[in-house]
Amino acid sequence: MNPVYSALPTTIFEKMSAIARETGAINLGQGFPDAPGPEDIRRAAADAVMNGYNQYPPMLGIPELRRALADHYCRHHNIDLDWQTEVVVTSGATEAIAAAILSLVSEGDEVVMIQPLYDAYMPMVRRAGGIPRLIRLEPPHWTIDATALDAVIGPKTRLLIFNNPANPTGKMYDRAALELLAERCVRHDVTAICDEVWEHIVFGADHTPLITLPGMRERTVKIGSAGKIFALTGWKVGWMIAGKALAAQVAKAHQFMTFTTPPNLQAAAAIGLAKPRDWFVGMRSGFERSRARLVTGLESAGYKVLPSQATWFVSVDLEASGIELDDVSFADKMALEGGVVTIPVSAFFEEEPVRNILRLCYCKEDAVLDEAIGRLAQMRTALTS
Ligand code: GLN
Repeated sequence: MNPVYSALPTTIFEKMSAIARETGAINLGQGFPDAPGPEDIRRAAADAVMNGYNQYPPMLGIPELRRALADHYCRHHNIDLDWQTEVVVTSGATEAIAAAILSLVSEGDEVVMIQPLYDAYMPMVRRAGGIPRLIRLEPPHWTIDATALDAVIGPKTRLLIFNNPANPTGKMYDRAALELLAERCVRHDVTAICDEVWEHIVFGADHTPLITLPGMRERTVKIGSAGKIFALTGWKVGWMIAGKALAAQVAKAHQFMTFTTPPNLQAAAAIGLAKPRDWFVGMRSGFERSRARLVTGLESAGYKVLPSQATWFVSVDLEASGIELDDVSFADKMALEGGVVTIPVSAFFEEEPVRNILRLCYCKEDAVLDEAIGRLAQMRTALTS
């Protein structure tokens, strides 16, 4: 087997979800809500299946969805997009990430990435022949500093891969961090792949896309996901938006990977994206309630919860919670003996992992969260008494 792939472990999400399936443990690991998702959008998909929309759509995506994306980003972020040349629909954000990396990275190109690092980036960068240059962030604030960035970015850098809001930390980078990254991208002529799938799952300040910063419009591939926005993670409808030249280049990789994406689901995603601003506010407040329930429960059980501003995840600091086990040992014990699956954040590091942080997904029914909190409380008591 090709060594790039034979060396790969099974993803942490697959490993932990498999334990949940086998043992019946509550799954607060892999990020997916247990609610069925917006009924009108699901109904629109069913109608699209019954009324056409079942043959190959255009390679770039159906016009309704590309138009809806251009309108959506104009309304929400004031980005002026030509739907015909600057929008590429993909089969999920993971395909968009792969297509962007494979089409932009050549043998020997340096690629700057930030740890903790979402698991899909590194194997693709390696497969494309890129040389990873990593910045390592630390809890509790996961701040990017200029000195660390300048140590890895420079004239040989081809690409920056930037996940904002960030998984697994739930961090939303502030304006100063965005300005720093944009300034360095422009200075060193770097293209940015921005994985912004969490753009609407934010609590507090609105999300600012890196593509809107000075000098970034023509050097950014902004990636999004209907699965995240509409809490329908199995749909795998994603997209890339970019300036015309970049979009044409990334589309070349997309055409030989999946070529197209189910047209019926695209039609339904287009309807969802046209929803009024109020819908997005309501969606967030539903998540905010579950998030507060998990955070309060964890804190009452003695866990130290880290600050976060976005995503479906919160993290706890095990060490600061009085637990001596590292994250992997705790996650394994909690899954196999405690009945709750979580994600150890060290899995998101390539080098010098931070080993005391655990990620938990909060978008579950109240009763499920309460049961999980009870089990986590018991485990902490057992480990600290
Ligand atoms: N994005 C999901 C998460 O972070 C996982 C998706 C996957 O399993 N690859 O939990």
